[in-house]
Amino acid sequence: MYAPAGVKTNHNEFPIPDSQRAWVLGDPGQLSIATKPVPVPKKAEVLVRIDAVAICATDLEIIYHGPPASIQGGMPFNKNFTPGHEYMGTVVALGPGVDEYGIGQRVAVEIHAGCGQCKRCREGMYTSCHNYGLNYGDVDKGHRANGFTTDGGFCEYQVNNINTLVAIADEMSDEEGTLVVTAGTAMYALTELGGLVAGESVCVTGPGPIGLMAVAVAKALGAQPVILTGTRDNRLKIGLDLGADHVVNIHKEPDVVAAVKKLNGGKGVDYVVECSAATSAVNDAVRMVNRGGRVCLAAFAHEEVPVDVAHIVRNNIYVYGIRGEGKSATHRAEAFMKQKRFDATKIHTHTFPLDDLPTAIRYAKDRVEDAIKVVVKANMGAAQKEAAE
Ligand SMILES: [Zn+2]
Ligand SMILES: [Zn+2]
Repeated sequence: MYAPAGVKTNHNEFPIPDSQRAWVLGDPGQLSIATKPVPVPKKAEVLVRIDAVAICATDLEIIYHGPPASIQGGMPFNKNFTPGHEYMGTVVALGPGVDEYGIGQRVAVEIHAGCGQCKRCREGMYTSCHNYGLNYGDVDKGHRANGFTTDGGFCEYQVNNINTLVAIADEMSDEEGTLVVTAGTAMYALTELGGLVAGESVCVTGPGPIGLMAVAVAKALGAQPVILTGTRDNRLKIGLDLGADHVVNIHKEPDVVAAVKKLNGGKGVDYVVECSAATSAVNDAVRMVNRGGRVCLAAFAHEEVPVDVAHIVRNNIYVYGIRGEGKSATHRAEAFMKQKRFDATKIHTHTFPLDDLPTAIRYAKDRVEDAIKVVVKANMGAAQKEAAE
């Protein structure tokens, strides 16, 4: 039985096995299920039973191409590495000295713990930790980023630093819980843009999960108008449900810059949150904002793109890049979700058992049945059984 020294458990209510099922990455695109020991929480860490984990486009990048994962200083392949980073679950064991969370508490989990000792971690920019990936051998800085530099969530149990946990309301479903980090990433984009957006105009480009959450968060922050651009009517429709005042389908309106400007009185918008990774996206974004406006780039582009720097300089445009969910933005996003300021579950489309992860990945990757957010659950059968009893 799992009983590590110094670790608090409650086996009556939350029995913990010694080993667990975990997916591991072999060659690019190859996942297989393995048995791994249940990890042991150290100081300032808890053990989380993973109740649900969502698949993200970045998981697909890691599984098929490698970066931005960095395992033992290099590519993540054939290193017994478990990917997956958008998870939520239940705290089932407490490391030494932990009293901030209790056994049985439901939590969403931020991806990036960082190292906790570099300049950026101290500033709350733990997603930009200067010791990213330095958590091995004699250069061990103790960096942690679930599913990027340390084992992630496509398994049953994982340890997490208490600073990455976000307590979630009992009414929030497991599936919605996995979306706290997605909404938190959108919140971080708006935080970096200045945060105070009530009455200011925002355009979001790209209706993927982060783009759709950016629409919802911008609206919850009082932005007016909120405009969403994209190519798929079904996703633009979800954007309208989440609070967009206007949508622009680029297939129908090829001059997307003119269309966005027209919707905001001709001068352009105050903020653009770029979530499409399209090759034309940066130049479109800097032309959509008004003079002195701000652009936040939140999508990983696949290739280098030429940018009209003179336009940016002449018009005093600010361009930001964000990585992930920094500055505790998840807590602010969760507060909006708890207050039902928007319904994040509108972007959740499919749930599969953990054992069917390859099917779930295929749905996410090929957008089968218009999949947006696909979730896997380790104990789906048990949960459904309980609900039926
Ligand atoms: Zn993600
Ligand atoms: Zn750091």
